[in-house]
Amino acid sequence: MNDLKGISMVWLSETDLTNLNAGEGESNYIDVKKYKKDGTEYPYVSGQAMRFYLREAIRRNLSEDEYMCVPDDKGETCGDISKCINCDLFGFMTTVKGKGAITRVSPVKVSPAIGLFSFDENSNVDFLTRRHRITESSKMEGDIVNVEVGTNIYKDGISIDLLRVGSEEIIDEDNRTVKIEPKIDKNIINSRIQKVIEGIGFLSDYSKQARLLTDFTPDAIAISFQNRYSHRLQKLFELNEEGKLNTERFKQILDEVEEYSDQIFFGIISGLLNKEDEKFVKDVFKEKGIEVKTPKEALDDAALSLTTKPE
Ligand SMILES: [Zn+2]
Repeated sequence: MNDLKGISMVWLSETDLTNLNAGEGESNYIDVKKYKKDGTEYPYVSGQAMRFYLREAIRRNLSEDEYMCVPDDKGETCGDISKCINCDLFGFMTTVKGKGAITRVSPVKVSPAIGLFSFDENSNVDFLTRRHRITESSKMEGDIVNVEVGTNIYKDGISIDLLRVGSEEIIDEDNRTVKIEPKIDKNIINSRIQKVIEGIGFLSDYSKQARLLTDFTPDAIAISFQNRYSHRLQKLFELNEEGKLNTERFKQILDEVEEYSDQIFFGIISGLLNKEDEKFVKDVFKEKGIEVKTPKEALDDAALSLTTKPE
């Protein structure tokens, strides 16, 4: 376990009719972000928005002695990675007096959440009343906002570069080499990694959620603890427009990732996939001797394995 280089997670989340975009804006028409593939539009939630949701999920769960800064009015954060969980995990660009701009690349990479089904077939326009306009008579009045909403299954993933959590890159100018130097205790590093894993199970600060309640936590999730840093696991789930899983690819990717993984965790709730695919997935893991649990249990097991590991 001591030679772990990366943790990769990929998951699917089925949504009810909802709009998950960040930034409410002042417009009276709030659309869903979409990307086009072969002429068809699919919804997505940006990687930046997903990072925000994850960060806020972690922030909500902090204990009293843990610290996460909030960006100042210039959007700059504290930059103290030994003290600040936010700056350590999510990186920063900040100006330090006499030193200029300092940048830290985030050791936690979050992908956009990609809707797997076409938007046209699965969407609607909803009406919300927004009550924030103060008229000349100082009375609050509502105006109607049209919000595009859709159902879908979203695929999302994150990758944690374990060597860089709680560490800084030190450049040796003479030899032109880079050394990664830990700045905090190994136990604190592990607790920060655990917070990221646990945070995935508690994503909830999506925009519009004051009005539209939706669950965007994983309905199926695979987590690999890898001794090589690789994003390969992100290709695990491929569904066609009918929701049928590409089972051949599922097995191929899993076999490949298993070769450089110490541990793999998997959780799924029933009814996300069709019966045959669900059985296929469970059989694949059974063959590998991996117990399939619920997504929450898989996340808990993964987080826990970081505590129990011998130093
Ligand atoms: Zn900070």
